[in-house]
Amino acid sequence: MFGRAPKKSDNTRYYEILGVNKNASQDDLKKAYKKAAIKNHPDKGGDPEKFKELAQAYEVLCDPEKREIYDQYGEDALKEGMGGGGGGHDPFDIFSSFFGGGSPFGAGGPSRGRRQRRGEDVVHPLKVSLEDLYLGISKKLSLSRNVICSKCSGKGSKSGASMKCAGCQGTGMKVSIRHLGPSMIQQMQHACNECKGTGETINDRDRCPQCKGEKVVQEKKVLEVHVEKGMQNGQKITFPGEADEAPDTITGDIVFVLQQKEHPKFRRKSEDLFVEHTLSLTEALCGFQFVLTHLDGRQLLIKSNPGEVVKPDAYKAINDEGMPMYQRPFMKGKLYIHFTVEFPDFLNADQVKALEAVLPPKPSSQLTDMELDECEETTLHDVNMEEETRRKQQQAAQEAYDEDDEMPGGAQRVQCAQQ
Ligand SMILES: [Zn+2]
Ligand SMILES: [Zn+2]
Repeated sequence: MFGRAPKKSDNTRYYEILGVNKNASQDDLKKAYKKAAIKNHPDKGGDPEKFKELAQAYEVLCDPEKREIYDQYGEDALKEGMGGGGGGHDPFDIFSSFFGGGSPFGAGGPSRGRRQRRGEDVVHPLKVSLEDLYLGISKKLSLSRNVICSKCSGKGSKSGASMKCAGCQGTGMKVSIRHLGPSMIQQMQHACNECKGTGETINDRDRCPQCKGEKVVQEKKVLEVHVEKGMQNGQKITFPGEADEAPDTITGDIVFVLQQKEHPKFRRKSEDLFVEHTLSLTEALCGFQFVLTHLDGRQLLIKSNPGEVVKPDAYKAINDEGMPMYQRPFMKGKLYIHFTVEFPDFLNADQVKALEAVLPPKPSSQLTDMELDECEETTLHDVNMEEETRRKQQQAAQEAYDEDDEMPGGAQRVQCAQQ
């Protein structure tokens, strides 16, 4: 863009949009824009695209400097200067500045003289325990936020008056044009330094003493957040319109996002709860009972059925002892218990004898002495299977790499053999 001669591009379209001829006066332009903009205003059911085009065309042609660039080089020259996006100002701002901030539609029409921006939402994480989500809880949180100054109603001045910034004619933006040569211009748009882009200035003596002309003041506010039974990790609780206030802005929301802290005992999967429990081999074989303290402090007695054997890695479930369902807290999921069985490391000869007497008999594979003579002796030793698998994978990867290395030569040999 810098130092490049703008190509000549279309320089009649803006006149056509407004329906005026090329030598239309400022007055003609104003009249034409006013008539067309009211007719095409989206609040009156008009086409937003057409409305935007009108504003764009008017914004350029009503500015003698921009009009000259447009007449000479066309639309593209202006677009380049505006950073390629082709966008000037908000068409609604142009429209309302035309009507002095008031609505041209009268009291019965749409009341917004200016299109209101939406303020940003403020998002806070909110840490909760699994107990909080099981039982539900209210948390009081103190936040500070900007609110419209009550003394000046957000005007920033004692008299309520604000002056259009002289530096930017109230647009908040300044355009500077540099002539770099006979057919070279550079146009730059930046926020007005005199009004910090607001388009308004307030006389020093007229400044509101409460907000010092800032239009907003800080306020402490306590919000009570109701965490309902059964809510999930990541669920949002929204306080509409409680974020920072600003003039001409629809206030955004405060949003709390629940973050469940990990629980030492229970794991949650939507409506179900999972708990780990380790049994001794004796408990697994001969029965067990234990007490599990639930999230609400109730003591659950958990016991096996008579004669039941629990196998390692088994799951068992208790109905209706899982999490309450969100907005249906009387319905609950399941509580799953995952069992690990701990085996003894070693048994002495007496223990083995005693066990053999009560446990089901071994499979009958009594070998004769002669058969044994024909066998080779082996030794079993302990292994760490994870370690073994990792070692094997590394070995396989190394071999694949070595093979890849040999490929080109190998392929060549095949080719030669075919010739
Ligand atoms: Zn300004
Ligand atoms: Zn004030």
